[in-house]
Amino acid sequence: MTKLSDKYLTFDNSEGLIDKHLEEMIIDCFNKNYQAICDFFNYGELRETSIVPMPDYDGVAATYTETAKVIMSTKYYEANKLDADSLTHEWVHVAQNYKNFRPGWLTEGLADWGREKFGIYNKEAGWALPKYNPKHHYRQAYRVTAAFLCWLEDNVDPKLPWKLNDSLKKGTYKPSIWIDFTGKTVDMLWEDYAKANS
Ligand SMILES: [Zn+2]
Repeated sequence: MTKLSDKYLTFDNSEGLIDKHLEEMIIDCFNKNYQAICDFFNYGELRETSIVPMPDYDGVAATYTETAKVIMSTKYYEANKLDADSLTHEWVHVAQNYKNFRPGWLTEGLADWGREKFGIYNKEAGWALPKYNPKHHYRQAYRVTAAFLCWLEDNVDPKLPWKLNDSLKKGTYKPSIWIDFTGKTVDMLWEDYAKANS
């Protein structure tokens, strides 16, 4: 049987820079979640994507949206051998394929929301969304924003993450779109979230 990874993923680990078991976990994640990620974030269109291990990169991983190339820091993954779903976050970026990264907090929040929804080995990696904390703000992006998006999905509109992604893809996103979608500004929604979780 042909796997999704045979057709859509190029992962050059020929130099063995990424631990073999982690490589297998990442490919397994791809085969299990890439279709669902693309269904949600890219109207079902699968983009061919690649993974390139980078010894001199100090971050974790990053995506070049236009070419769908994902780089992985070999240093980071040497120390985090179970963090396969950090690639799930990057595949969301591949599928988002936004022309404009802004607002970055929402783009990154949706990527971690996607990791929460479609991740396979989050638990193994010790990765989870945080509980609300008064020091949080939705503009902190990543997990903090993702937790807010989950709450909005459960308590305001189950379609809201899809609608936000759709507006970012179409370039129609603007701050007032929160009012169009929910009747409230994002700051009002954050206050509701804070109250509900305090
Ligand atoms: Zn990201």
